[in-house]
This record gives sequence, structure tokens and C-alpha cells, in this order.
Amino acid sequence: MERGSKPEYQLKIAKERINILFDEAKKTAKEDPELARRYVKLAKRIGMRYNIRLSRLRRKFCRHCYSYFLPGVNCQQRLKNKKITIKCFSCNKTIQYPYK
Ligand SMILES: [Zn+2]
Repeated sequence: MERGSKPEYQLKIAKERINILFDEAKKTAKEDPELARRYVKLAKRIGMRYNIRLSRLRRKFCRHCYSYFLPGVNCQQRLKNKKITIKCFSCNKTIQYPYK
């Protein structure tokens, strides 16, 4: 098998697993942020292994400490100059991405 490429069915399973992990992270983020963080890390690792981009999900967690974002609970979202700024309360870092 070619290095770096995985069969289609494996990619499908990996994507499903990532979605499930993010669902779980969402459910547990409030009660158990540590566990949610573990889910996010796992999802990211699967994504890296199968070369799946977490484009849609990337904004849902902190890229510094992997906390799952719950707006108003563990992060603060601000809209400024067509940009969204998210401040993570766990590591106090900010993330910016364009907004349209
Ligand atoms: Zn953080």
C-alpha cells in the first residue's frame, strides 16, 4: 500500500469517529473539561493519522490546550473587524479567524 494514503472505507470510519468524539466532547465539556480535552486530542490525532482536515471542527476547540469551546462558559467570543476572536479561559490565549 502506498504510504500516506488510506483506503476509502477507513477514511469514512475515521471521519465518523472524529464526529463522535466531538459530540462527546460537547456533551462533557461543561461537567468534565478534562475529559472533553481528551476527546478533542484523540479526534485530532485520528485526523492527523488519516490526513483528515478538521476545518469545520477546528474552531470548536482551542488549538493551544485543546479545550472544547463553550461560548460564555470557558471562552469569550468577540466580533471585530470581520474577525472572530476567541479567548480561551483555560490557557488565556486568543485565536482569531476571519468571519464573513
Ligand atoms: Zn486554550
